[in-house]
Amino acid sequence: MKLQAKPSWFAAALVLGLVVAPLVLAEFSITLLNYIGLASLVVLGLVLLTGVSGLTSFGQAAFVGLGAYTTAVLTTSTELPSALAWLAASPWLALIAGLLLTVAVAAALGLITLRLSGHYLPLGTIAWGISLYFLFGTSETLGGHTGRGGLPAISMFGRSLESGREIFYLIWAFVLAALLTTRNLLDSREGRAIRALKGGRVMAESMGVNTWASRMIVFVLAAMMACASGWLYAHMQRFVNPTPFSLHAGIEYLFMTVIGGASFVWGAVLGSSVITVSNQWLRDWLPQIVGQAGNYETIVFGVLMIVILQRAPDGLWRAITKRLAMRETRRPSGSHPTLPRAQPAPRRELLLDVQAITKRFGGLVAVDQLSLSVRAGEIVALIGPNGAGKSTAFNVISGVLDASGGSVQFAGRSITGATSRDIARMGLSRTFQHVRLLPQMSVLDNVTIGAHRRAYPGLLVGVATGAWRLDRRSEAMLLAEAATQLERVGLASHANDDAGSLPLGQQRTLEIARALASDPKLVLLDEPAAGLRYMEKRQLAELLRKLRDEGLGVLLVEHDMDFVMGLADRVVVMDFGQKIAEGTPAEVQRDPRVIEAYLGGVDERDAA
Ligand code: ADP
Ligand code: MG
Repeated sequence: MKLQAKPSWFAAALVLGLVVAPLVLAEFSITLLNYIGLASLVVLGLVLLTGVSGLTSFGQAAFVGLGAYTTAVLTTSTELPSALAWLAASPWLALIAGLLLTVAVAAALGLITLRLSGHYLPLGTIAWGISLYFLFGTSETLGGHTGRGGLPAISMFGRSLESGREIFYLIWAFVLAALLTTRNLLDSREGRAIRALKGGRVMAESMGVNTWASRMIVFVLAAMMACASGWLYAHMQRFVNPTPFSLHAGIEYLFMTVIGGASFVWGAVLGSSVITVSNQWLRDWLPQIVGQAGNYETIVFGVLMIVILQRAPDGLWRAITKRLAMRETRRPSGSHPTLPRAQPAPRRELLLDVQAITKRFGGLVAVDQLSLSVRAGEIVALIGPNGAGKSTAFNVISGVLDASGGSVQFAGRSITGATSRDIARMGLSRTFQHVRLLPQMSVLDNVTIGAHRRAYPGLLVGVATGAWRLDRRSEAMLLAEAATQLERVGLASHANDDAGSLPLGQQRTLEIARALASDPKLVLLDEPAAGLRYMEKRQLAELLRKLRDEGLGVLLVEHDMDFVMGLADRVVVMDFGQKIAEGTPAEVQRDPRVIEAYLGGVDERDAA
């Protein structure tokens, strides 16, 4: 597979422009571009954090401050403790120290804030954003509100970068390096895991993704980019004070992110440019238009923001690329070695053994002492009226919900109380009744998430190899695997479509392909045929038979009786959380209690 990046002409033009800019532009424009570059670095981190992973942070300016103050203290102090004195020798050493400090602080803050969910997470970031700001302002050592001056210029190749024109190249080299790294990372296995965060933690964990680690990684990376921006800023100004690192600045960075298009790396530069330039213009021109000084730019700015977001809710970058029909597509190229497969379970081996599981929600017993088993090479159907507890049973078995009682064994090992990630790793994969996929990601990428765990190199190695494109071989294998599974379920022709553009029935089929991409021994399918047309149902039944014949275990929930009866080897019937019948399709069809549940029971419930 090859990532065909059409916007590469854009990148080339940008680089050329950047090389020429300092030679032709006036001092004022250079300064503006420097500010755009500095903001882009921070915003790029926010694109990762907020746009891609859905973690909103208002506190990013505090990390900029951390980078700026670390270098300010280290490079200007005359009385550093002797253990730290050697760090004062060069701003570059101070950068390394700042990055290490940022990693430590971000990890600590991440440990606290990333546990928060919903609106509490952004509120948490506001809290530490304000705290760090006040720390900068009140600490005597840091210079208090007046700040701290006398920072040296950064030296490179024996040259001291004194002027804005000189530091320009360094700033933009940082921006381009960060852009490239981020783009590579997002295009890798870890990047997919990071993007999967937006699909909800339940889905990602069920596909074997360690969502906690992924969140931590983006949080720390975003903080490091902000820190680098602060370091550059401090040595450009040669002076630091707390104002640029306030909550206000944090909000402005978030604006830039949203305006640019929160999930696109180039949107970071675009958003930073639009906001920085318009900020400058408004500040210059408004007083002349209005005829008096005042903070009018804030008002105009707010209105502008609303208009832009109304016209381009996905940000400006998305709007532009849509207009120019720029799209990144992946195509298979050449042949690759395939991913190793696990040894299939011996035929008829007991795969899943569920003993008397119970799940209570408060007073409601959704699943009541349910026992069932599935063998390799067998299709078992779990049927029952709406609300019988089928999906809840699936969630308990697959580790999404903790059981209130009972035990589950998978492939001879107890998985009672295990996390869904561990269960996925052992070879149990699933689909969801309410599809959980990433609508804006391609069908192929969605399926590849399923293969996340296969040939896993470990988190940090995964991030590093992804960021520097050393993972192309394994990435090609993963994508080839996903393509194979798409072929298998009959969605190959949709590989490059956005998953959200498929009709619901095909989205369910996509989830089956994703489950298969993990090379499972057993698949749990929650209403896979819902929303499928007649022919599609027949194709699905054929696929499931094929999987069975290959030795897979299949446990499925289904409403369509005809579909189940022609397909399942065994049927388990549930009603009100309990198992009321079990047997071959013919047996359960004759069972009076089943007939009662499906016919008599339905009338009662309708009447209720
Ligand atoms: P089925 O999949 O068989 O239609 P479910 O397992 O979805 O049924 O639901 C079984 C019962 O448990 C229903 O009464 C439902 O309202 C309840 N239920 C399911 N999930 C929850 C939850 N997270 N909290 C509280 N009640 C729930
Ligand atoms: Mg259900």
